[in-house]
Amino acid sequence: MLYWDYAAATPPYEDVVKTMEQIMKLHYANPSSLHRAGSEAAKLIRRSREVCAAALSVQAKEILFTSGATESNNLAIKGAALQYQSRGRHLITTEIEHPSVYESCLQLQRNGWEITFVAPDCNGMIDPERVAAAVRRDTVLVSVMHVNNEIGTVQPLMEIGRLIKSVNPRTLFHVDGVQGYGKLAVDLKGWKADLYSLSPHKIRGPRGAGLLYIKEGIQLFPLLSGGSHEEGLRAGTENVPAIVASSKAVRMGGEQRESFYARLLPLRDRLLRFLHSVPEFVINSREDGAPHIVHFSYPGMKGEVFARKLEELGMAVSTRSACSSRLAEPSRVLLSMGKDVSVASGGIRISFGDSHTEEDVAALEKALITAVRALKIAEGGMK
Ligand code: PLP
Repeated sequence: MLYWDYAAATPPYEDVVKTMEQIMKLHYANPSSLHRAGSEAAKLIRRSREVCAAALSVQAKEILFTSGATESNNLAIKGAALQYQSRGRHLITTEIEHPSVYESCLQLQRNGWEITFVAPDCNGMIDPERVAAAVRRDTVLVSVMHVNNEIGTVQPLMEIGRLIKSVNPRTLFHVDGVQGYGKLAVDLKGWKADLYSLSPHKIRGPRGAGLLYIKEGIQLFPLLSGGSHEEGLRAGTENVPAIVASSKAVRMGGEQRESFYARLLPLRDRLLRFLHSVPEFVINSREDGAPHIVHFSYPGMKGEVFARKLEELGMAVSTRSACSSRLAEPSRVLLSMGKDVSVASGGIRISFGDSHTEEDVAALEKALITAVRALKIAEGGMK
């Protein structure tokens, strides 16, 4: 089976697995305990924080460890909304965000906050001017993702950040960086980002740990009550093995970013060229998108049916983001781009990782042709 779902989950580095095992065996003590074993565990967390901070060119005290990016996004959005209610109850996000951002905003909306959902253009790009036009005196936070997890569009964060701050310097800017880190350059200062979420398991790290960068001086209302872990911002005994292993993946993701990009881009471009040559397909990704995501539709064919056929042919693909792929409805992202329901229901996402080769792409292309032919014959037979 060839795995084409790296945007959903990645195989952890060997070193990550070894680290997890070693720390589970040797450093199981609670980092809050006063004895030496506890202090050693606490020291491991401190070091991991420094490693992640260095990779993002920020201060160690600005890094918060969570359980994953879903939690990081929830905390960034709801934590800021609750903390800064006296400034206002208006937030801005986009119609193409990951459910962990989108649903957090909907939850706030149901509880009295006003949310502006900015629509993308027909290519899935967010216009910075449209974001800026929505910013008001009472806008507490704007949340825009770096790379869209479904179609791979890269948003113009530098311009978005600049315009937000020029309209209201007090409005916080949150970036969901999950699909961009390790593939594209991250410039938190240049983007004027105040909050940034990252998920180690998307960059060959472990599950169970996530990161949230919180710019110095920004307060968030904690979503979990309990002990004083993570400076009182996130109660709960720290997941030391996942935190340490995550810091390794974050460091390696940063170090290998350029070579990863250079290796993946030709593979992605080859696949895009191929997809353009198949009349049955509509391409939903842009040529200037992220190097690891290609999304296309087979209008009239349910994405799930096409994905199952590809699986029979040895290709593990996704229909959209893993968090939404079990939903029966058409893709919210594609509908917001103005695609019709048959395109929005017939999507397939191919996402690349560092194990892929030209031969793998050639095998995928062959499987795609075989799947189209087989499904056409099946459809013809049913008429
Ligand atoms: N944001 C984006 C853009 C994602 O792609 C994902 C996961 O697919 C998440 C957030 C959630 O990350 P996690 O799986 O760490 O909760």
